[in-house]
Amino acid sequence: MCTESPVLQFFDPSKSVEIFCDASSNGLGAVLLQDSHPIAFSSRSLTDTETRYAQIEKEMLSIVHACVKFHNYIFGNHVTVYNDHKPLEDIFRKPLLSTPMRIQRMRLRLQWYDLTVKYRRGKDMELPDTLSRAQLPVNKPEMEGLECVSMLHFVSVSEQKYSELQNCTREELSCLQRIIQQGWPDHRHDLPNELQPYWDSRSQLVVSDGVVYKGLHIVVPPSMQAHMLKLIHQSHLGIVKSKQRAREVLYWPGMSSVIEQMVKNCGKCADFQNKLPRQPLRPTETPSFPFEEVASDLFEFEGTHYILLVDYYSKFIEVDTLKNLHCRSIIEKLKAQFSRHGIPVILRTDNGPQYAAEEFKVFCQSYGITHRTSSPHTPHSNGEAERAVQTVKKLWAKASDKHLALLDYRTTPLDSVGFSPAQLLMGRRPRNSLPTARLLLAPAAYDPIKVKQRLDRSKCIQKFYYDHKRASGPRAELKPGDEVRMQPHPGSNRWSPGVVVRSHDAPRSYIVESGNKEYRRNVQHLRKSTPDANDSRHRLINDHWAELMEPVSAEEPEPVEHTNSQQESAPVPQTAKGMTSTGQYITRLGRVVKPPDRLSL
Ligand SMILES: [Zn+2]
Repeated sequence: MCTESPVLQFFDPSKSVEIFCDASSNGLGAVLLQDSHPIAFSSRSLTDTETRYAQIEKEMLSIVHACVKFHNYIFGNHVTVYNDHKPLEDIFRKPLLSTPMRIQRMRLRLQWYDLTVKYRRGKDMELPDTLSRAQLPVNKPEMEGLECVSMLHFVSVSEQKYSELQNCTREELSCLQRIIQQGWPDHRHDLPNELQPYWDSRSQLVVSDGVVYKGLHIVVPPSMQAHMLKLIHQSHLGIVKSKQRAREVLYWPGMSSVIEQMVKNCGKCADFQNKLPRQPLRPTETPSFPFEEVASDLFEFEGTHYILLVDYYSKFIEVDTLKNLHCRSIIEKLKAQFSRHGIPVILRTDNGPQYAAEEFKVFCQSYGITHRTSSPHTPHSNGEAERAVQTVKKLWAKASDKHLALLDYRTTPLDSVGFSPAQLLMGRRPRNSLPTARLLLAPAAYDPIKVKQRLDRSKCIQKFYYDHKRASGPRAELKPGDEVRMQPHPGSNRWSPGVVVRSHDAPRSYIVESGNKEYRRNVQHLRKSTPDANDSRHRLINDHWAELMEPVSAEEPEPVEHTNSQQESAPVPQTAKGMTSTGQYITRLGRVVKPPDRLSL
């Protein structure tokens, strides 16, 4: 009745054109309107193959059918197309390549036309709906070759694997297949619970050869997901790479988070990781007067061993020759220095054997000195001493008179304060080789409050540059029982698994148990891990790397993180700490430690 000519209007090229189109299970219908008056109708039935298309493909086909049929009316004009399948709206916004193959073909065909596709509720679409249900018995497809689009041509998969996919899909995703073919409900909550995760991808889901595809990606049935995960991670790529690799070809709801968890749980990946980015600088408080806080370190220059002492306040450096590296000689030299400048309140050193010896502890106790050591393998936390060693080495490398070079350093004003180390320490300018007015050599007081302010300000500036250049944000605190990995010792590249026992008194330091031994580690060297990734932890007793690490003693003195970055070029801990150019590790006592050869296993 409605297709009889009296109902139809004449076409007016000056007016805008609208198309209403719809697909039923076995037919297509379309009507061309101007000012809500019909200009032309069209309908056809679907071929046998077309009836098996996904609902979204049928709806897309109804647009193609309408456009081809009404070509003479719409070519060169803008047209608004109304359809009652909501996902179609989305698919026109998606990149062409992310859509399923058959829809891609149809979209390419529609590129002839200037279309805006809009959604309208089914009950407002009576005309095309009627036409699609009471379709004409013609079924000539508008596009050639659309029916034989098979995804199998586009995926690289063995036939055996593909038939396995088809079987699993039939058994596990039959409900999803049915929804795709019959059309999606209007609301997410109308879907069965197990299908709701697919809701957001509904515009891209199609079924081809019994396999569900999202765009060009295979939707993996649940029982095959574990196997796919194994394939994705077979070469142990990191989280980002593994995800990218999977997203190229596969899809299932929540795939990314499963991959992320899998990589985090992978023991092999946890074994070999990159160093952590540095922590933000945590400057120590500036001491209030000279020789309140000092740092000491040992170093070697041109075959001779030296002990260095540097004052945190004035940066005054004392250097003494050492005949041997016995703890007693070191104590002797320190005693001599303290007799000159007074006994410091705090002495900072690294964890070297001489400083960690019982004898040294007794000495510090008898002199009333608080001895603080740095975390193992965190040489920069004894930064002041490390830096002073570098300063002295640089001076001596160029100087013919070591003592004059030191005098020049001590009598040259510090950038940050405007006074020389000697002035800050002794309140006078010692005479050096430069001609100087006699008056300048007289003792002169300086304002200690101003000096402290300047020192504090220079620390703030250092922190700003350090944090902005290389530090990461502060890492989350670790709790007892947390599974972790410890950064490899120099000479090894394997992160060793452990579990946090407790936090150490020193900030950012933890006691970690690994292979039945306890180690003290700075958070800089601890990566969070998972129980699964650390599965091998309990088998590591007597492992070679364990020998390389210094187990913590219960009475180990409290260290303080003391990073500082006055010198942008990092100190060279390798030579000072015993790394040779061949990558072997030499202990302070000269023992060469061969790195474990585990990669070749
Ligand atoms: Zn892995």
